[in-house]
Amino acid sequence: MNDYLVQLSNNTVARRGLKMIGAPTPLALARASGPYQEKPLQGKRLLFAGNGFLAAAAKTALTQAGAVIGDPAQAGEEDRFDGIVFDASGVQQPSDLRALYEAFHPIMLRLAENSRVVVLTGLPEAAKTSGEAACRRGIEGFTRSVAKEIGKRGSTANLLYVAQDAEDRLVMPLRFFLSEHSTYVDGQAVRVTAAAKAPSPLPLSHTLADKTAIVTGAAGGIGAATVRRLAAEGAHVICVDIPPTQETLDAIAKDIGGSALALDVTADEAPAQLSRFVAERGGVDIVVHNAGVTRDRTLAYMKADLWEQTIAINLEAILRIDAQLQQDNNLNAQGRIVCLSSIAGIAGNAGQTNYGLTKAALIGYVEAEAPRLAARGITINAVAPGFIETSMTARMPFVMREGARRLTSLSQGGQPEDVAELICFLATPGASGINGNTVRVCGQSLVGA
Ligand code: NAD
Repeated sequence: MNDYLVQLSNNTVARRGLKMIGAPTPLALARASGPYQEKPLQGKRLLFAGNGFLAAAAKTALTQAGAVIGDPAQAGEEDRFDGIVFDASGVQQPSDLRALYEAFHPIMLRLAENSRVVVLTGLPEAAKTSGEAACRRGIEGFTRSVAKEIGKRGSTANLLYVAQDAEDRLVMPLRFFLSEHSTYVDGQAVRVTAAAKAPSPLPLSHTLADKTAIVTGAAGGIGAATVRRLAAEGAHVICVDIPPTQETLDAIAKDIGGSALALDVTADEAPAQLSRFVAERGGVDIVVHNAGVTRDRTLAYMKADLWEQTIAINLEAILRIDAQLQQDNNLNAQGRIVCLSSIAGIAGNAGQTNYGLTKAALIGYVEAEAPRLAARGITINAVAPGFIETSMTARMPFVMREGARRLTSLSQGGQPEDVAELICFLATPGASGINGNTVRVCGQSLVGA
């Protein structure tokens, strides 16, 4: 679905007109055009500031990714920076926070369009003093506020809370959050720990070669984009959706050299059927629980069958499939599970008591499963999309749709490909440090922000 305002805003004359009437002028966002490259930050000019236990590992990761670490004092007035990485893990007390001001203040107006800010700090609960914990948590508020200031230029800011022993897990997260693969992920705080074993060696391109993935709801907007993204990284993808979508499913699977499996995930036999199917391929490495429905009515008017159906598809089927795969030993070590939650699961939404319940339940589910699965190097995370341009959101009334698009820092909705990028990142071996997180892909939507 096209966003007319993004199209108009990128025409110089129309943009001027929109500005005159005070309308938003969302920038066309830069997006990655292919799979991960060995040097995804090639030629990007970044400012690196701050100094703590993460600085050395982060700088090495950046230069290996091809970034040029520039010094604003040496750069010309007109020179622009493609991003800032600030290591705040050395901040211990309020007076140390001045370093954030000193690094960011001179460069805020010198950030290029579509630039990236990544702030690093330690885990608040691992701080030595309450003051240090307060500062670490405060840095989240700083980062989210920076994101709101730079969003109108298509730029994003995200925070990584990193455990003391997890600095070697930064390579892939830095590549993701500083590149055009993370376009619509904005204002997020992601925890990086060493709980799940890291793979060695770490593949930086063709990252999913030899992996088998299941994507449910593969015929839909986000599902189809995810299937293509995982296949582009080299995975064999089993595309699952309900039987009426068989033709679409076959076409997608053929296109990517994957397999099609038409089944209703709520059917009694579905978990066993899926498990048998992956057993023939030596088990499954990546499971993306994407199939989901909205059956909206305010609670006073909601029929019991709409309630039941939503719980069955969006929640119960996921628990049953994961349990079956594990019971049959068909979920491989170092595996990755990604559940599609929603910002409605974080903030709640009128008319979506059933949907909001299931999407919040998935957040609880990944938090509960993460420590259990970490022993086998498996991670489980949730992705919470905001307003994404798919058939699901095309059904929304115009005024609500417009509100959802514009009430974001980037002033526009996301594309299914943006969600697919985040899912794919979490499925890579290099995302081993991210476990039990819920990451929003919502352009920093004000809903639940
Ligand atoms: P979509 O309606 O385009 O696709 C959903 C797919 O799931 C469809 O192809 C459908 O046939 C399939 N499906 C439904 N019931 C199924 C079942 N019982 N068994 C197997 N497949 C089934 O929706 P989408 O926008 O691509 O959403 C994908 C996921 O992302 C959903 O879980 C949704 O809740 C979540 N999400 C979407 C948005 C958004 O803005 N589009 C926002 C937040 C969360």
